[in-house]
Amino acid sequence: MAHLSLKQLSKVFPDGTHAVDQITLEVPDGELLALVGPSGCGKTTLLRLIAGLESPTAGDIELGPRSLQGVLPRDRNVAMVFQGHALYPHLTVFGNLAFPLRLRKSPKPEIDHRVRQAAAMLGIERLLHRKPRQLSGGEQQRVALGRAVVRHPACFLMDEPLSNLDARLRDETRTEIKALHQRLDATIVYVTHDQQEAMTLGDRVAVMRDGRILQVAPPREIYRHPIDAFVAGFLGAPPMNFLHGQIRADAGQLYFEHSGRRLAVPAWAAATLAARVGQDVVLGIRPESLSIAPTGTPPANRLDITVDLIEFVGAALHAYGSTNGDTIVARLDPAATVAIGQHHALEVDLDRAHFFAPPPRGSKQPGANLCPTHNPPPLARSRL
Ligand code: ADP
Ligand code: MG
Repeated sequence: MAHLSLKQLSKVFPDGTHAVDQITLEVPDGELLALVGPSGCGKTTLLRLIAGLESPTAGDIELGPRSLQGVLPRDRNVAMVFQGHALYPHLTVFGNLAFPLRLRKSPKPEIDHRVRQAAAMLGIERLLHRKPRQLSGGEQQRVALGRAVVRHPACFLMDEPLSNLDARLRDETRTEIKALHQRLDATIVYVTHDQQEAMTLGDRVAVMRDGRILQVAPPREIYRHPIDAFVAGFLGAPPMNFLHGQIRADAGQLYFEHSGRRLAVPAWAAATLAARVGQDVVLGIRPESLSIAPTGTPPANRLDITVDLIEFVGAALHAYGSTNGDTIVARLDPAATVAIGQHHALEVDLDRAHFFAPPPRGSKQPGANLCPTHNPPPLARSRL
């Protein structure tokens, strides 16, 4: 296994598309880096650059001690697992697993040993004599993974390998990949558009948008300290709520004012927001930071919503509603009594709120997190 290093890597396609835009990224030896971003942001192009299937317009890639510049794909010692894993239909599972080794003219006993080792690791030994059409979707995906494993590559590149599986198999195979990563101690770049998959699998998560990496951090850190409103809104389901308002000062207290209603600015944000009195700010509230307000909750800690949709998801109840024209979703206790068409007062856990700069005028860039390092105190037992 090896350390992967991308230096100022860019890919501009002949039609002018900047698919990858000056990406600098270090993936330490043995790390599973989950690369996540919306469709079209450049994830596949980035993997293809690493694999050598595209050549960069600028920048360099190093794997271990050497630069990959001018190195042919088959000499790069990386293994790519694609979405929609194409197995050879006429070969058995053994034949499929052995294929990359036969191509390399490895000695027969070594092929045999490596195939059996990979099959054992993935729990597919009993399938070795079968043809792909005699396998379930999940088994086929495991064979596709096995074909990468037998090569003992320095780095695995996985491009949405679970996207063709149904929800349940996806969960199982995801666990499988996590276990495989631990057993192999492998360097893996794992691409997905699914934020939940990225958060559960990644040692670190890299969020990509428009060919750039916005932030790279361990899952908990990136969830708690998103660098901007895009990262904040992309990670988490249901997504973070955003309210557009202004900062007001009144009798020594700062408020976030939103359509005439005020929420108290917590002490930890006061120093930063004091400089923005009278200015536009975006308040971000995660659905789990809202709960049914106990009687007597002061208005400055409350959002009053009219519920128009309820989603029961077992461990929680998602209540969608509107407040002064903005849509809000709250992740509530599954036992909460809420009803469609009713007004409900929600208490806002302002310690877990986020404040963002408004998007720069005329730009589609998201606003920066104004208090990116704030650490909220641990949750009270009653809020878990
Ligand atoms: P993702 O995998 O994140 O969905 P891709 O890497 O496939 O994104 O594509 C990134 C951008 O580059 C998209 O705008 C896509 O249309 C464009 N693109 C990809 N391949 C080519 C190509 N061969 N020629 C021109 N544009 C391309
Ligand atoms: Mg893709």
